[in-house]
Amino acid sequence: MTKIGLEIHCQLTRLESKLFCPCKADYRNLPPNTNICPVCAGLPGSLPILNKKAVEKAAMISLALDCKVPDKISFFRKNYFYPDLPKNFQITQYNAYGPTSIGSDGAVQIEGKEIRIRRIQLEEDPGRLVYEGSSEKTQITLVDYNRAGTPLVEIVTEPDFENPRQVRIFLNVLADLVENLGVSDPYLEGAMRVDGNISVGSGNRVEIKNVGSFRDIEKALHFEITRQQSLVERNIEVAAETRHWDEARKITVSARSKEEEQDYRYLPEADIPVISITGGQIEKLRTQMPESIMAKRERYVKKYGIPAQVAEVLSSDKFYSDLFEKSHSAGNAKAIANIITTDLMGFADTREKKMELKVTPRHIADLADAIVGNKLTRNSGKAALYEMIKTGRPLAEVVSSLDLGNLSDASSLEKIIDEVFKEEEKAVAEARQNPSTINYLVGKVMRKTKGKADPAITLEILKKRLS
Ligand code: ZN
Ligand code: MN
Repeated sequence: MTKIGLEIHCQLTRLESKLFCPCKADYRNLPPNTNICPVCAGLPGSLPILNKKAVEKAAMISLALDCKVPDKISFFRKNYFYPDLPKNFQITQYNAYGPTSIGSDGAVQIEGKEIRIRRIQLEEDPGRLVYEGSSEKTQITLVDYNRAGTPLVEIVTEPDFENPRQVRIFLNVLADLVENLGVSDPYLEGAMRVDGNISVGSGNRVEIKNVGSFRDIEKALHFEITRQQSLVERNIEVAAETRHWDEARKITVSARSKEEEQDYRYLPEADIPVISITGGQIEKLRTQMPESIMAKRERYVKKYGIPAQVAEVLSSDKFYSDLFEKSHSAGNAKAIANIITTDLMGFADTREKKMELKVTPRHIADLADAIVGNKLTRNSGKAALYEMIKTGRPLAEVVSSLDLGNLSDASSLEKIIDEVFKEEEKAVAEARQNPSTINYLVGKVMRKTKGKADPAITLEILKKRLS
């Protein structure tokens, strides 16, 4: 059995300032080493001052992931020596003497499966190392401390994933959740980084470090499953090690041996006092939080009668559930859920494609009303939707220019059915004998009308003629 656990670093990009100093949290697109001060540059004698908003945002993420938030949180120093870390330690959290990190013991449901959240901690991002040319061949490594001290949360799951697909779904849900909470823009470069722990069968655990995109973590996990299985088949032990994802070659490669927990020499950060979080503060945060994905899913099922599976798909995608919220009315909610999850999501499944859609809530509402009111068939509706997506033109204009209007007046349908009866004498005779073959004739009418014939009225006329 394959077991996968994740460790996700998610920057709190919506904050104004860094975790312990007034420098900008938004370090992107600034000249190197200009967004720094004595605190984040680790100069002797400087003292950290905790960003209160960062604690609140991290607590919101914890609550949204169903974690317990303790009434006291504290910080620790994680010591290691690396040039991206100006102080030679990272200020982070550590549940050494009971849970004092911002969240623990949470859970998320994906496709009916529970993924447990072990803990969530608030910590600072290190600086960035920039290699001239490729990292293997370069003589020169540059360091930029603009990012040092940027607030982030580290989210650690239990090894509850059974395959890379579940990982991808979970990460999409998580990205939507932090975006929905207004705490992070997860799609900014480097805003969300993922480590994966994976073992196959009873083999050793391998860690894949610092993968920058969701698509790549899925690929890296697939690669590891194949690699580890092939070792097991040849009776070779899988080494417990850290590996890197090589984007260019699409493989994982063995990396430097990792520090053990004791190597980090965790010790309490005495420059930051223990912070109390009261029940009242938690309640206040809850009122500021938007509806959770789970609550939204339930509302779609209960209030609009949308099938559970459709509701799950719709509620976990922020872009499309926002579109649903802005376009639906009581009468067309089900039809809109259908249009979005079957036609639109298949067409635009990546962020880039979504951004290119020229479709507005008005388009979707008009389209659903036309389908519900039998003015367009599902087929014509699909054609109209694709035209609206591309051009942004209103539905009425698209329907008349593509001649998509529903053919429901009986006299025009009668004429077409006359033609079909002439051309399909054998099939007509057969349908008289065996009414279950009538769909063949419906299909012929559909083809002649390019899918515009109203199926119910067509069937009615055909039945009358055949009896
Ligand atoms: Zn600073
Ligand atoms: Mn970390």
